[in-house]
Amino acid sequence: MNGQTHTVFDELGFRYEPDSLYHQVITDVLDTSGRLEQPRHLQLILAQPKNEIMVHYPVLMDDGNYRLFKGYRVQHNNILGPYKGGIRYHPDVSLDHVKALAVLMTMKCSLMRLPLGGAKGGVQVDSRAVSTDELRRMTRRFTSALGDNIGPNHDIPAPDVGTNAQIMAWMADTYINLSDARGRFTGQAVVTGKPVAFGGSYGREAATGQGLVYVVTELLPELGIPLDGCPFSVIGYGNVGSWAGRLFENAGGSLRGVMDHTGAIHADAGLDAYELAEHVAATGGVAGFKNAEAISVEDFYKLNVDLLIPAALEQMITETQAAWINAKVVAEGANAPTTPEGDRLLRERGITILPAILCNSGGVSVSYMEWRQDRDAVQWREERVQDELRSLMNAAAQRVKLAAHRYGVDLRTAAYASALEHIGQVYELRGIFP
Ligand code: GLU
Repeated sequence: MNGQTHTVFDELGFRYEPDSLYHQVITDVLDTSGRLEQPRHLQLILAQPKNEIMVHYPVLMDDGNYRLFKGYRVQHNNILGPYKGGIRYHPDVSLDHVKALAVLMTMKCSLMRLPLGGAKGGVQVDSRAVSTDELRRMTRRFTSALGDNIGPNHDIPAPDVGTNAQIMAWMADTYINLSDARGRFTGQAVVTGKPVAFGGSYGREAATGQGLVYVVTELLPELGIPLDGCPFSVIGYGNVGSWAGRLFENAGGSLRGVMDHTGAIHADAGLDAYELAEHVAATGGVAGFKNAEAISVEDFYKLNVDLLIPAALEQMITETQAAWINAKVVAEGANAPTTPEGDRLLRERGITILPAILCNSGGVSVSYMEWRQDRDAVQWREERVQDELRSLMNAAAQRVKLAAHRYGVDLRTAAYASALEHIGQVYELRGIFP
């Protein structure tokens, strides 16, 4: 934390808590803003979200009892456009995490130069432990509790960990039923990541993994790592990890190891990324996959690969894991998978980190395309989506490289610097109301 960030923390009455994801993320953002010598009022504005919405709502469970759920929507910043970001269903959802993830959405949308702001939402629930009916009732009631806090011109949710296209369809349907936006198309634009048959976009499901693969296929050869036969490993085999795995295998990579909540597996000859995705869909995890050896968590991190893709949850790579990692490059598919200490040690060890706000912004980029399609009542062909996504990802990767060069910093700081330059410029142009 630099001196300027210290004084912002003091002015806002924050006491730095090293384990707080929010404090970790906002410190990086404020330090970078300080390095750019941006005005102090910008740092004060960014240090706190604009709105923190918390709702409690009862849901009838299948056993006849009511359970009270807690839901969050944090709207961090909307200087660039309507708030945008996913809704997470996970037992560890907390206000601190949702706030941190909302800041990261502001940074992602700005780095990608999308006309969107940053938000995040979540409900503290294990979506694997509730029935489909319970999930639907819980989603509809959460959407109605949020009311006009979301809307196609105001705040547009999307899937995240534990949520999917079906859940987005229920959110959109609930919103359309409750609001004046009854038009078949404009109402749908309230949420992205919907099924293709109901206002979704081609390419959205695989978009986060695809965006990451566009970035790594662009940058690895420049780092002297050939794509053909490139050994890689993945943490988490949900939407992001399994698509990154499959698409990087298509690009020439050889998947050597995967770890998820059910265990870690490894195969020297390579795992079939597509068959593994089928196995996970059928059994719920990577454990027990044929032609693979079960290994310990430590041995998984120690696998000798060129590329490691963490695509599960936040704060997984601490100093301990960073000391084990035996990869040349870490491409962050998850949001904030590396703690500040983990990040420092990886850099000290000469491992290149391709930061999350660059690598995983393919999801929100195709969400942006879906939102435009819904507003225009059209459906684009998959080729058009892929062309736009590839050029958005490549342009952002170039911006990050340029900023790293200009400021002489690592790629994570460079990604924040590019995002902050854009936000800073727009604040300057718009001024502070009134
Ligand atoms: N939840 C995703 C993310 O963290 C997607 C957000 C969106 O599409 O709005 O980037």
